[in-house]
Amino acid sequence: MPWCVRKCPYCDFNSHAMPGNPPLDEYIQALLADLEQDLPLVWGRPVKSVYFGGGTPSLFSADHIGAFLSAVRARLDLSPAAEITLEANPGTIEHDSFPAYANAGINRVSLGVQSFDNEALKRIGRIHGRDEIEQSLKSLKSAGISNFNIDLMYALPGQGPEQSMRDVELAINAHPAHISYYHLTIEPNTAFAAQPPQLPDHDVAWDMQQTGQDLLEAAGFGQYEISAFAQKDMHGRHNMNYWRYGDFLAIGAGAHGKITTPADGRVQRFSKHRHPKRYLQGLENGDWRAETRILAADELIFEFFLNQLRLKQGVYINDFSVRTGLSWQLVERRVQQAVEKGVLEIHDERVIPTTLGWKFVNDIQQMFLP
Ligand code: SF4
Repeated sequence: MPWCVRKCPYCDFNSHAMPGNPPLDEYIQALLADLEQDLPLVWGRPVKSVYFGGGTPSLFSADHIGAFLSAVRARLDLSPAAEITLEANPGTIEHDSFPAYANAGINRVSLGVQSFDNEALKRIGRIHGRDEIEQSLKSLKSAGISNFNIDLMYALPGQGPEQSMRDVELAINAHPAHISYYHLTIEPNTAFAAQPPQLPDHDVAWDMQQTGQDLLEAAGFGQYEISAFAQKDMHGRHNMNYWRYGDFLAIGAGAHGKITTPADGRVQRFSKHRHPKRYLQGLENGDWRAETRILAADELIFEFFLNQLRLKQGVYINDFSVRTGLSWQLVERRVQQAVEKGVLEIHDERVIPTTLGWKFVNDIQQMFLP
């Protein structure tokens, strides 16, 4: 869902400032036509999760979301226990209340809080403040949606360690099931890249990361991925599928998917046209795809380790041939080298980063570059 009320200065997602009169009905029709075209890729396969991401999906009404989900149910084997997540931003005044989204089928919400501090929020160009966060949390409670995530950033412009710890404490006190705790990074082609703000220095940011993680762990939020912390058994199932290198369809402007082609077992990555205007032209010409690429063996190896090594549980050896169609022998020597360096260890059919390795995940991932 590609629109936002306004573009945040640090954002490099495919999000576009919402036009005056956004064609929301038309966009939902486009999603359905796009889905229709991709159905043969997943015939007979159960769908275990749906994720409405963006952009700001909560700019769409509960009726829009409900209509899309009904159409998915009519066309695919959507499991009754499927995790169905809506990304929402506090202060998106257009959105319906969470009880309405729950009635439409949403059973998990990811809330873009980022910080509870009004000044910090202003400095990163967010449209919401503390009041809007509290309203969203209340609305989630009245909807009975206890399975929700709070997105929280640290190392924000002008932020000190005390403020970042306060943010973590307030997030914990909101009793979410999941907290994503991540470092603000300045990405190319953003407003912040053009005019960089004053950021906390590297050592301060490192302390914020360590202290934040300690607070989260002490409050029962186990870290299971580089930036993801969850209460027991409450990890994001949709994201786990990405990180386990599973298959997923991608519907919508700029969406990226990965599918193992049923006929020949090859793995393809594909993306849809990025700009909403270009994407909506698909309603006339049926052309949704911007790119389709069949992955070569060395790309499969790298992508597999890039994703699975993000997880604390490490890499499942059995997953390797199931997900890539390749033999484990192709990577055995590189795994052994990492074991000898003391950054990976092998346990219970898994290759797991050691305590030392967890600090250098990027370096281990690079060992699997083509
Ligand atoms: S609300 Fe999220 S997706 Fe939209 S511009 Fe801001 S960071 Fe990007």
